[in-house]
Amino acid sequence: MYTRKKIQEEVPEVNTKIWSCESDDCNGWMRANFTFDEAPTCLICGSSMQSGEKMLPTLANSAVRS
Ligand SMILES: [Zn+2]
Repeated sequence: MYTRKKIQEEVPEVNTKIWSCESDDCNGWMRANFTFDEAPTCLICGSSMQSGEKMLPTLANSAVRS
């Protein structure tokens, strides 16, 4: 038996501006630079959102496109 070291890719994290849901029961949040509203509402529960920051891995070149 041997142990295998998990190789973790180092993804640099940056402090990213986000909107987070104000509801304690909801984990909804979104990157602020994906929104264009001044005060977006939560896509999950519809509550208002507050701006904040979160450490997130830097985005790869191809962002999610809808
Ligand atoms: Zn929510």
